[in-house]
Amino acid sequence: MTPPPATKSRRSSRPRSRQPTGRDLSLLEDISTIITHSRDVRDTLDRIVGVTSERMDTEVCSLYLHEARSGVLTLWATTGLDRSSVGRVSMRTDEGLVGYAFQLEEPVMAVDAMAHPRYTYFPETGEERYHSFLAVPVLERREPSAVLVVQTSRRRRFSRGEVRLLRTIAGQVSGIISQARLIESLASKEEERRDFQRQMGDALRELERYQVGDPRPRTTSAQRARLTGIGASPGFAIGRVHRLKTAARYEDAPPERTGTAREEIARYRAAVRKAIEQTGRFRDRVQETLPEMDAAIFDAHRLMLEDDSLIAKVEEGIRAGASAEAALGRVVDEYVRQFEGMEDEYLRERALDIKDIGQRILRCLVGVGEAPKALGHGVILVATELVLSDFLLIEPGKLKGLVLATGGVTSHASILARSLEIPTVIGCEPMGEDSIRQGDRLVVDGNAGVVYVNPPADIVREYERLDREYKAFNRELGALVHLPAETLEGRRVRLYANIGLFSDVHMARQHGAEGIGLYRTELPFLSHRDFLTEEEQVDLYTRVVESMEGLPVTIRTLDLGADKYPTYLRVPREENPFLGWRSIRISLEMAEVFKTQLRAILRVSAWGSVRIMFPMISGVEEIRRVKELLDEARDELRRRDVEFDEELPIGIMVEVPSAVSLAPRLIDEVDFFSIGTNDLIQYTLAVDRNNRKVAPLYEPLHPAVLRAINDVARAARDAGKPVSICGEMAADPMCTLALVGIGLENLSMGPFFVPVIKRLVRAVDFRGAQRLAQAALELGTVKEVKGLLFEGMRELGIIDVIETYH
Ligand code: PEP
Ligand code: MG
Repeated sequence: MTPPPATKSRRSSRPRSRQPTGRDLSLLEDISTIITHSRDVRDTLDRIVGVTSERMDTEVCSLYLHEARSGVLTLWATTGLDRSSVGRVSMRTDEGLVGYAFQLEEPVMAVDAMAHPRYTYFPETGEERYHSFLAVPVLERREPSAVLVVQTSRRRRFSRGEVRLLRTIAGQVSGIISQARLIESLASKEEERRDFQRQMGDALRELERYQVGDPRPRTTSAQRARLTGIGASPGFAIGRVHRLKTAARYEDAPPERTGTAREEIARYRAAVRKAIEQTGRFRDRVQETLPEMDAAIFDAHRLMLEDDSLIAKVEEGIRAGASAEAALGRVVDEYVRQFEGMEDEYLRERALDIKDIGQRILRCLVGVGEAPKALGHGVILVATELVLSDFLLIEPGKLKGLVLATGGVTSHASILARSLEIPTVIGCEPMGEDSIRQGDRLVVDGNAGVVYVNPPADIVREYERLDREYKAFNRELGALVHLPAETLEGRRVRLYANIGLFSDVHMARQHGAEGIGLYRTELPFLSHRDFLTEEEQVDLYTRVVESMEGLPVTIRTLDLGADKYPTYLRVPREENPFLGWRSIRISLEMAEVFKTQLRAILRVSAWGSVRIMFPMISGVEEIRRVKELLDEARDELRRRDVEFDEELPIGIMVEVPSAVSLAPRLIDEVDFFSIGTNDLIQYTLAVDRNNRKVAPLYEPLHPAVLRAINDVARAARDAGKPVSICGEMAADPMCTLALVGIGLENLSMGPFFVPVIKRLVRAVDFRGAQRLAQAALELGTVKEVKGLLFEGMRELGIIDVIETYH
């Protein structure tokens, strides 16, 4: 397929990097001069890596030599890495990215080396501050004999021209390596030979030492470490550790009761009452100080505290002779195990809520108060886990960063950390007292999910620099908040936010979303003990709608099932839950629950600009049945004299292939479409969206997906009705050009992505994007589509945004 004309002409006006440029030639000349005047191998290699890094504008250039006898690659010359590691850092050829290039006999490039599965960390080199990585093998008589590497701290892609240049240099270096090996065997060069042997011997002895003990020597200082986890809230923090200790432990109390069962039960009940009072206080505190936090969680906590079965089980334990503390500990353990054993991540994380309320009762039993932890300013809080009430006891302004051993990205701690913008790494290992101690200095990288313990000064300096740059980048994006998302020709694209909890509304406003394009209402249902009542829902939705101050809010009805089951919903075990009883299918079968939600949404429509949206519609009958139930809900409200917006726009999510085929029929039934690409991709490509094994097949830029999106957009356009996209694809900078080019004018995404996508939209020339999208729709493979879009973005000069966020 021929690329569109605009792309083609602009492309041809740019210098192509196929032939060496003047700069490249002078570098090659310099290297050949160094080699010609070579007298000392070591010095020659040092000078080659020096000049290569200088001219290729990389901070690091290193050469690793392969020793056939031992089969290891040893760092032989470097500029940029710690020079004391020369001769001391070695790896087998099946280790690390250097070994990978050697094995492949091909260049290996990584924009972020640490994220590469083959990356191996060698603390001696200090290379952790360098992200981008390019290695090319040096071939001697067609056999790999060394590896030449360049690295930069800025995440970047090396161009084809740069790869070729490094290969050419490697070709020249090959000569000097052969020469070095030859020197070794020449008696007339005895002195040089001894020198060479001594150096090689040192390296090998060092290597043997490593191989006898730990085959992968890591760190020289016990206190220093680099720990990895998951970045749960972005940003960087540098500070001192405050380790959070559990205030009370079940096992510290006597296991058996001393008084009568009656007295012990009375003591337990008093503690529960006190815990319930405290929960009420927490709720108030949240509403006062963190209005963005979904305070409904404390209702769920209160319900758990009042739960008859919890109370009965503990009392049973007490009657059997246990102390209140021990009986409580056993019941909490049992519940926690049940929750932790659940498949759904969201529910698994609710185990933390059980621990939280267990702790609260225990503290009341043993008389440990809820005074805020004595926390100095600017500390990084380190804990195995952080229950919600612990988090609330900390003054937000005091915390610089957060490191947790457990937790998931949807845990309350993560959600709160994101809304308070505290850089956070969760699931961090290992976290014992011997890896992170009170008062240790930490660097927390919430973007990469990495924690450095007592890092050397240059890593701290590097992070200080990254932090400055990151803040400047965000400031630059922040400056866009009040600017419209429009293409270069002024074509308006509206950017909306996807939210799940009330706390996300704050983020949506802060990042300049023009409304809520997808309010996933099921999340609050998952943290409650039962379906929310009409009043509870009205209360929740009103808060969202009021906080958006007139901006549109699209409320999606319950999308339960598949991977989201509330504990109170009895669902038979299914072979294929994503193809089973989920989403609108559940709502249609539980008509009363559904109508309760429809009434709540209708009522809220009287207070703002609300739209209602139905998930997973697969055919016309389904949406007609939904509309019948909606009519019944309207009638019920009319009978009660309750106001609502009679014109409330109704829409469907197009996320099932049958809805794509039927889009021209379905659009007649509704006021708008929203394309749910998360499901649409999995159903179109038959790839489970949560199955890691097939994750590489889950491809938003698959031509079949693009065609489906295009068909849906055209059906809506032909009917003169709006269409938006609300799957993750809308937040993927790689896809923006294609989506805008297809003609989508409404994109809804996680609030955090709004500024980045806005920046891209503002750099797009719509007609060019249109031509590019049309060309992409004709292509047959993902690779071709990506190649075309990547080239298009390069032309627009927006590649850096992709590299920062992709
Ligand atoms: C989607 O499927 O694209 C979507 C937005 O819905 P969810 O991710 O909630 O299934
Ligand atoms: Mg979906």
